[in-house]
Amino acid sequence: MKSLLPLYNSAVVQLNSADYTTPKYINRCLTVACSAAVPHIEMTTSTAYDRLPTVDPDTTSNVAAMDNNANGKDEAGTLPTPVFEKGRYRSPWLNWQKPSLWGAIHWTLTSPDNSRVPSPQVLDKTLPVVKPDLELLRDPPTEGVRVTWFGHATVLVQMDGVSVLTDPVFSERASPVPFAGPKRFRPAPCSVQDLPTVDAVIISHNHFDHLDKATVKQLNKRFGADLRWLVPQGMASWFWDLHVVNVAERSWWEESRINNNSDVRFVFTPTQHWSKRTLTNDNMSLWGSWCVIGPRHRFFFAGDTAYCPVFKTIGEKFGPFDLAAIPIGAYEPRWFMHYQHVDPEQAVMMHRDVRASKSVAIHWGTFALANEYYLEPPQKLQEALQAQGVPAEDFFTLQHGESRQI
Ligand SMILES: [Zn+2]
Repeated sequence: MKSLLPLYNSAVVQLNSADYTTPKYINRCLTVACSAAVPHIEMTTSTAYDRLPTVDPDTTSNVAAMDNNANGKDEAGTLPTPVFEKGRYRSPWLNWQKPSLWGAIHWTLTSPDNSRVPSPQVLDKTLPVVKPDLELLRDPPTEGVRVTWFGHATVLVQMDGVSVLTDPVFSERASPVPFAGPKRFRPAPCSVQDLPTVDAVIISHNHFDHLDKATVKQLNKRFGADLRWLVPQGMASWFWDLHVVNVAERSWWEESRINNNSDVRFVFTPTQHWSKRTLTNDNMSLWGSWCVIGPRHRFFFAGDTAYCPVFKTIGEKFGPFDLAAIPIGAYEPRWFMHYQHVDPEQAVMMHRDVRASKSVAIHWGTFALANEYYLEPPQKLQEALQAQGVPAEDFFTLQHGESRQI
């Protein structure tokens, strides 16, 4: 039994090296021990493609996209598509590496945690949480794009008559269980019940800090089939198991809409990342970003990603965007994180690559997932903007709960 302990610990560290890690070793072990005990609850079933969404106005065949990696390429055949082998996805870029088990162990044991998250009293001053202007949010603006940040990667974007929520996480922890795992150090600015009517939810991937089962259930209970869920390929069955019926899964470059009458298109586009939700389901579902293309405005949701040349392609094909939501946090140590997370300098490169007029910073200030000081991402963002000659007002941070009209 004793000889199995290092192996078990290695598995623990590997699973916990996903985005729901905290710098605290004990918390990491606790989280993974809990998730290891309940993998069957989260497991993506092998029958994912046997069932079709109950409501899907699109004609795109997801099964065909799975079987043929050429599907989705443009006339010149230049658009990168995910490699799908033996039931798992892989990024097509040559420099891609999935974070290794030994890298995760090395990170956990040797890299200093500099996050230094202070007391709630101090946080109230450094990262204040404001109550969203719910009256204002009730209707999308008649002109422009309105964005509201709810912490981490959750934003509400309202434009062209629709309200779109990204990677909604309103729970206290980014974890498979409610009693352990990374806890948010800033509370959600409001509850799911407080939200205005949401027309669509876009999901980037299945890591726990981007996909929260309790929040999905709450949204589904409140909006039911009226709410359109747009998710990466391989994830629809997870939603169907929660009785979410109006869900469409897409591969890179495939698109969908809220319904047949909607003139807002949602195109799923690549990122350099990965997926994992249980001990064994690494990369069994896809990951990516979303381009929301309305008749008058365009929004790009980057989700969670390393830096990758594909963002230039996205900018050329679907830009310019009025607004992009781009991650700036969870990047240290670079030797381990650079395969999956951009740093602020690369976030500014992404802002330029996708040709965003304005960008809002996400993926920071909510969960301590990596080793950088908790206030470093916005500080480094300012340095990067200056170094790259981008006006400071073009890539902004918001307070938790704050809205901005663009
Ligand atoms: Zn992730």
